[in-house]
Amino acid sequence: MDRDNILLTPGPLTTTLRTKLAMLKDWGSWDTDFNAITAKVRQQLLDIIDGHDDYVVVPLQGSGTFSVEAAIATVLPRAGHLLVLDNGAYCKRMAKLATMMGRRTTVLSSPENESINLTRVEQAIIENPSITHIGLIHCETGAGVVNPLLAISELCKRLGVGLIVDAMSSFGALPINAKDLTFDALVSASGKCLEGVPGMGFVFIRKAILDTCEGNSHSLALDLFDQYAYMERTGQWRFTPPTHVVAALAEAIQQFIEEGGQSARLARYTENSKILLEGLGELGLKPFLKDEDIAPIIITFLAPSSANYDFKTFYNTVKAEGFLLYPGKLTDIETFRVGCIGAIGAKEMHQVVSAMALCLKQMNI
Ligand SMILES: *Cc1c(COP(=O)(O)O)cnc(C)c1O
Repeated sequence: MDRDNILLTPGPLTTTLRTKLAMLKDWGSWDTDFNAITAKVRQQLLDIIDGHDDYVVVPLQGSGTFSVEAAIATVLPRAGHLLVLDNGAYCKRMAKLATMMGRRTTVLSSPENESINLTRVEQAIIENPSITHIGLIHCETGAGVVNPLLAISELCKRLGVGLIVDAMSSFGALPINAKDLTFDALVSASGKCLEGVPGMGFVFIRKAILDTCEGNSHSLALDLFDQYAYMERTGQWRFTPPTHVVAALAEAIQQFIEEGGQSARLARYTENSKILLEGLGELGLKPFLKDEDIAPIIITFLAPSSANYDFKTFYNTVKAEGFLLYPGKLTDIETFRVGCIGAIGAKEMHQVVSAMALCLKQMNI
């Protein structure tokens, strides 16, 4: 059998054979066998953040954005005011979806190569007493910047505003512990650092605010309060669940635990990122961010300055060697991105560096 292409993209990403094999069975959505899988996954997700005391977790069908939209719809009151801390594409998406559902939204813009500045956030909250919630992207996958979740959580607590976190591309890899920080909602999805397949998200919601969430949502399908209440009552998903995705996530979480959990995963991704930075550095390729700001999730590289460079050719040549890269997502500068996440390790990272070396040579760069 040919090897599948290795995905160096931040979701979907490369999954193990065990995870893929877990999808070879059909499940009845109402059946107790499937309900047991859902229940176990929910318990294990709460284990990962040590959140059993203060949080519940609500899974939702769809890609990660569906869960971000649902978290805001459910947690932000209709009369609430969301301040989105913007340093990239996913922040802009959060602001857009909040605006489109009619919630009052203000954007605090920052450069996409810098993490969010706390002093500016504090100032913005003090100047706008109507702000009720902060919207934060933990790892802004657009350029790969990690924002200071812990410090922003402390700031929100001190100033008495709520916090809604998109931790999509960081959850499972970077430390997130409910005993260290407070948030109203925190969102991630199956097909990111837990290394499942895409198709569902999940939202941690603080128990203390759960009752206030009833009736907030303008949307039936995105109402996480309703999804939660139904799931607690029946053990089932409200509407047809992505059964194969849930089964694959259960298997992926099992392997996450066997590997050694978040710290082991972070160690593997860190090793991946080191090989990549060193290897591409030797080829003369430079990262977009300062070294100290680079997170081992996804790395943005500046495109070679040579006139011979063309992303499409680069992409296709590297693909012919079995690796899928990711285009840049910055507005002004030409870049490309390489993910360090997924069921890949040192071997695959060395191989992709060789594939890129070959390609740059062919392009006369
Ligand atoms: C992947 C990702 C999402 C979700 O994107 P989808 O295309 O809906 O899966 C949201 N926020 C961040 C930061 C992400 O990395």
